[in-house]
Amino acid sequence: MYADIIIDISHEKLDKAFQYAVPEELKDQVEIGSRVVIPFGSGNRRITGYIVGFSESPDWDVAKIKPIAGLAKDANAIEDELVTLAAWMKKHYGGTMNQALKTVLPIKKKEAVLVKKDVTLLLDDKSAADVFADFCARKNHSKAKERLLSALMEDHTVSWEALTKRLNIPATAIRDFEKAGYLRVTAHRTFRKPGEKMEGNWVRHELNETQRAVADRFIKDYDVGIRKSYLLYGVTGSGKTEVYLEMIDHVLKKGRQVIVLIPEISLTYQTYVRFYRRFGDVVSIMNSRLSPGERFDQFERAKKGDISVMIGPRSALFTPFPDLGLIVMDEEHDDSYKSEQVPRYHARETAVERARLSRASMVMGSATPSMESFVRAKKGEYELLRLPERVEKRPLADCEIIDLREELRSGNRSILSLRLQQEMEENFKKGQQTMLFINRRGLMGFVSCRSCGEVIKCPHCDVSLSLHKNHRMVCHYCGFEMPEPKVCPSCGSKYIGGFKAGTQQIEEVVNKRFPGIRTLRMDADTTKAKDGHQTILNAFANGEADVLIGTQMIVKGHDFPGVTLMGILAADMSLNSRDHRGGERTFQMLTQAAGRAGRGNAAGKVIIQTYQPDNYAVCSAAAQDYESFFARESRYRSLMSYPPFSNMLMIMITGENLNKTEERAAYLKELIQKESDSSTRILGPTDAGIAKIKDVYRKVIYLRNEDYDILIGIKDKIEAGLLRSTAGDGTYVGFDFNPMNGI
Ligand code: ADP
Ligand code: ZN
Ligand code: ZN
Repeated sequence: MYADIIIDISHEKLDKAFQYAVPEELKDQVEIGSRVVIPFGSGNRRITGYIVGFSESPDWDVAKIKPIAGLAKDANAIEDELVTLAAWMKKHYGGTMNQALKTVLPIKKKEAVLVKKDVTLLLDDKSAADVFADFCARKNHSKAKERLLSALMEDHTVSWEALTKRLNIPATAIRDFEKAGYLRVTAHRTFRKPGEKMEGNWVRHELNETQRAVADRFIKDYDVGIRKSYLLYGVTGSGKTEVYLEMIDHVLKKGRQVIVLIPEISLTYQTYVRFYRRFGDVVSIMNSRLSPGERFDQFERAKKGDISVMIGPRSALFTPFPDLGLIVMDEEHDDSYKSEQVPRYHARETAVERARLSRASMVMGSATPSMESFVRAKKGEYELLRLPERVEKRPLADCEIIDLREELRSGNRSILSLRLQQEMEENFKKGQQTMLFINRRGLMGFVSCRSCGEVIKCPHCDVSLSLHKNHRMVCHYCGFEMPEPKVCPSCGSKYIGGFKAGTQQIEEVVNKRFPGIRTLRMDADTTKAKDGHQTILNAFANGEADVLIGTQMIVKGHDFPGVTLMGILAADMSLNSRDHRGGERTFQMLTQAAGRAGRGNAAGKVIIQTYQPDNYAVCSAAAQDYESFFARESRYRSLMSYPPFSNMLMIMITGENLNKTEERAAYLKELIQKESDSSTRILGPTDAGIAKIKDVYRKVIYLRNEDYDILIGIKDKIEAGLLRSTAGDGTYVGFDFNPMNGI
């Protein structure tokens, strides 16, 4: 048996694996992720490496392959743990070990370290005064050096930066005086602190009785050594963050560290401010908007123990804390926790695994728990903790559903219904703020009737059909096809087609309808700059606008007490996404959006505009009734054996040559049929949602089985089969377990 081994895992060498022989006596002790000692290079220097794969046959001349010397003894705890996690991810989500390692060890290049220099006067006051007098007496003496001496006489130590930048003293002047023995330059490493410039106010609240009970439940478990996963199901505005803070406080007091995952970069700031107020300097942030140097430093600070709370999106999960004690995942239902790059991991499952490896606990919170998590909580895999009411018994906002079909019938073709216009008018008069939310999810492709709300669906799969360029409607689950209808099959109306409206159009409509009203727009366009999100959010929080118009990024988790009206412009957009999660996504989005209104002292109002007022996702969101939604949705999912009642593996086959791609897909289907029994349901191959991108054809095969491990087994067989069959036919095969987004 031979093992592929990577060395020096912290740097770019990850790309290269070296083959070693596995000696007989080690065969039963090594696995993927094992840390071993190997002889390396011509001198056979002993170094350590990680096993990333095995093979039965050698890739080189056997005589040149050296044997592994033994298992490494000196533990490198944190890196071992992350490599083990990478091996788990590779197994569960597919892809190569290198891809998994690059995900868990995201810093590939060592960034320049920041060095801070200080200049210290070596003379006592008296001799300094003498030197200074002498020096100034000289004709044409350097004014810069004069400034240098007088600055040092005032404060004995001054930073290099202050001298060179503020006092404009050239480095050579400082070095001259250093040679003369007047002063000393010392250097020490410093770290970039990305959160440093963020300031803000946050009032700390005493926990109310329910919050206390929830926090105590966790703390009691923690104290007796129980480590597990909790699902904190708390309605919007129930004060979940305050509960997290209390739990985190407890874990920090035990000397352990905490990772806090958030779904959106735009939430970094408000989360950081709340955490900073509570815990101070030990809190840091990590996200893709930071410079590579800033990111590198955060990982270094985490390893060294300078910080103990890391806040960030998905990738913050891989912060190299030496003694991780807790992972908090806020808004655990959010789609952004699923990676769209190989390995296509879900941060929730991966976090549970990392917590297990570190003997840490995991707390997931949401007002609209994912179907997956709530099912697990019901089974007792996660412990369910509840916050059923808003803090200070504030009422949830009052929701009203507006039927857009009626609007069209009564002649209003504006994107703002008459009711919404009325409510906006009143709200402006009262000087209160409004948010308008346009749901752009699932915007691609589906066709609906603006007169009766009918959506063109697959007769076999209960998902909406997608419109392709050739005017054909296609089901992406079973391949069913039909021509694009010209009139509505249900009511005969000719108002049938895709729905098109962006934030910009909405802003124009609002400006025209309400002259003088100040609008702000938040979408991918207006938030491109590094602080784009924050600038807009701050302006709105400071009352610089009456209306904030935006996409999903305005509804996630924000706390604007001044907002009393939320208008949801087209609630059913996401209902029609081409996968089984349309209902869940819609329910979550509507409930979250509704949760933004009335968080302050004044009561909130929500207007939900929709073409499908009877849809249960829309109705239960309007009633803010999670459990009734869960019950309905569970029936549908289990009837159709969709996740979480079964597991799904999507296999995507791509290639530039259509024939080759189709052949490869057909070959895989055959392989799968051979390797699986009747418990696995196979659909496809069929076109992916977007059948071709940049001249690359995309085909998909869907597998469903209750047992995740059976799907892993099939994936492994396919991967092995691919190695045997002709690679180099220009096709590529990728895996996506329980895909979250339509493809
Ligand atoms: P959630 O995350 O559950 O939506 P937050 O944690 O953002 O809720 O809290 C909602 C609001 O209630 C915040 O403004 C927060 O400061 C406030 N709050 C939290 N706990 C309390 C409490 N015990 N008493 C009063 N106000 C509280
Ligand atoms: Zn119709
Ligand atoms: Zn179908």
